[in-house]
Order: sequence, then structure tokens, then C-alpha cells
Amino acid sequence: MKNLLNYTSEELALEIQPKFRVQQLFQWIYQKYADDFSQMTSLPKELRERLGQNYHFKSLECIRKEESKDGSVKYLFQLKDKELIETVFLPMKKELRDEKGKVLQEAKYTICVSSQVGCKSGCSFCLTAKDGFKRNLEAAEIVEQILYIKREKNIAYEKRVNIVYMGMGEPLDNLKNVAKAVRIISEDDTLAIAPKRQTISTSGLAKQIKELGKMNLGVLLAISLHAVDDELRSELMPINKAYNIAQIIEALKEFPINQRKRLMFEYLLIAGVNDSLEHAKKLVKLLEGIRAKVNLILFNPHFGAIYKRPSMQDAIAFQDYLSSKRIVCTIRESKGLDISAACGQLSKKGKR
Ligand code: SAH
Ligand code: SF4
Repeated sequence: MKNLLNYTSEELALEIQPKFRVQQLFQWIYQKYADDFSQMTSLPKELRERLGQNYHFKSLECIRKEESKDGSVKYLFQLKDKELIETVFLPMKKELRDEKGKVLQEAKYTICVSSQVGCKSGCSFCLTAKDGFKRNLEAAEIVEQILYIKREKNIAYEKRVNIVYMGMGEPLDNLKNVAKAVRIISEDDTLAIAPKRQTISTSGLAKQIKELGKMNLGVLLAISLHAVDDELRSELMPINKAYNIAQIIEALKEFPINQRKRLMFEYLLIAGVNDSLEHAKKLVKLLEGIRAKVNLILFNPHFGAIYKRPSMQDAIAFQDYLSSKRIVCTIRESKGLDISAACGQLSKKGKR
């Protein structure tokens, strides 16, 4: 049985003709949220039967779900081989209407997807790293995380959804399947999530940053920087020994970005480790000449962690310094702190 969520429409048109049947089939799956082929009444019966014999479009089973007071929801999915991954749904803006019911502000959602089971990068602050690396996700397993949530939340096709590849795993270590997922979900007949609404976050695999750049997909890129000198960065992120800061910056300079967009640098603030004003000064220097935006993240403590979360006051001081040097800088809103929000935490709780 082949998984339909692994196909772009062009690829599927090689197996199913005429082409408009592919379009109809995709609309049933991705837009009308059909559960099985029998519901796809606009397709001829024999095609539905043939599809049922050869294809499926479900491989994730949700075995645990935690909903936060702030509306974010964390899903624990079991894959066919029993491995576990997490996906997070983040409502960023509520829909606002006036007395007459006219929409004043559209709802905005972000879905944070996993790209691998485990991760090879081995960052010392990250829970996903703890169990090492198991395997890459297939494109279909990435796509279904989004489809599952849109279907469950009954989010209409045309509603705006942003995707961040910031769940478990290093997306650029699974570049082929991640790039495929980007292409699949951006098609009009599927989820129509434009590449510019998709952000790939990487621990800095310079070689793959270049490869991704050459693909010219139109996605946004976020670099998990977290430290401004190689010594500290290698301590926090062992992958830095393979690709150091200079190599990452060099790769970024070639990366195609839309004129109105910026490269995002994520900087995880860890109390007493990388959150001083000295670090902020070095960061400003490092980013000279790059159209950058810095997103400060406060370390999310988890059981057994050796690091501490800095105070909001210290984070704001760090932000103020960057802003005073005209670097666009935000502090990431901590969503779902009450639901084991840092990546990897829910899967550690298992199936209880
Ligand atoms: N592997 C990719 C994407 C997944 S991790 C990457 O590292 O960029 C997504 C983000 O979560 C990264 O910026 C990572 O550094 C951050 N992160 C990991 N553990 C965290 C923790 N305990 N608290 C806060 N952020 C964390
Ligand atoms: Fe992997 Fe990202 Fe976690 Fe580092 S922070 S171990 S790269 S998932």
C-alpha cells in the first residue's frame, strides 16, 4: 500500500489519469477532510475501489494530547513502526469580530512539525537529543501532522496557517523529505500553504543550507545560533564542531531571501551561560551586514536539565541592547509552558 501524502500532484498524475481526478482526490483529502475513499462521491466507483486496494492516506495515530490554558495543543503521534513524534498547534491570534459579526482580525495559526525521530545534533539543552537519532520522517509523515490538526480542528482550507519545522529533529538532516513536504503542502489542490509561510529551523548545517538555497523553494530560514563564539557554541551544540559559526554565516550570505523578509536567528537565553550584555555586543557584531531578525527564546526547563531559565528582566535587557543597535528583535512568547512545551517533552511521558 502506498501513502498518497507522499505524492505531489504531478507525481500522482503518472499513476492516476485523467489528471483532474488527482485534483479531485487531493481536494477530498486535504480540503474536505474525507476519512476514507468511500466518501469521495465525485470519483467513479471503480476508481475508488482501485484506490482502496493500492493506496492509503493515514499513518499517524494520536495517542496523547495536552491542551494548554493558552489554547496551544501538543499532540503525541505514534508512527507505523511505533516510534513517537510530537506536533504542536499554536493559535497566535484570535478571530475578532465587531457587533455586526464582521471579521476585524483573522485568526492566525502556527503548526510546529517534527522532521525526524530523535536527532543527531546532540544539543546539550534539548530533550530530543537525549535518545539519539532513530530515523528520518517520510514526507507523508510530515504532511500528515499538519493535515491531522487542520482536520481535527476543522480549520477551513482558506484560513491562514504558518508552518515551522521546529519540532523534533533537524530538518536539514532530512532535507530531501522536508523539501518534498514543503512542495506538497504548498500546492493549491492540497493545503495551499505558501513556502513563504513555512520556516525551516536549523542547528546550522552549512552544507545543506547551501543545498536548500539552490533549491530556491522560497521558504524562510531560521538559524539556531545560541552562542557567539565557537567554544561555547560547540559546548552547547556539538554540531558546531562540524560546521562552525564562520561557515554558517558564509552559507547564509548566499541564501536567497525575499527582499521584504529577513533571516531569522534564534538565540536561546540560558541564565549565566550566554545571556550577558557582553554576549549581546558580540551578537551585534556577528550580524553586521546581514538582514537579520533575532528571536530570543528563554530556556524551557525540563526534568534533569542542568540549565536555568533567565528572568524576563534579563531577557528584556538583552533585547533592548539589540534594539538600540537597530537589530529587529523579539522575545518568543512562551506558549504551553504548562504542557511540557519544549520539544521532546511529551514523548518522554509516553503513553500514560
Ligand atoms: N533542530 C532544529 C529545529 C528543531 S529545535 C533546530 O535546532 O533549530 C527548535 C528550536 O527549539 C531550536 O531553536 C532549539 O534550540 C530550541 N530548543 C530546544 N530545546 C529547548 C529548550 N529546552 N528550551 C527552549 N528552546 C529549546
Ligand atoms: Fe536537534 Fe534542534 Fe534539539 Fe539540537 S535543538 S538536538 S538540532 S532538535
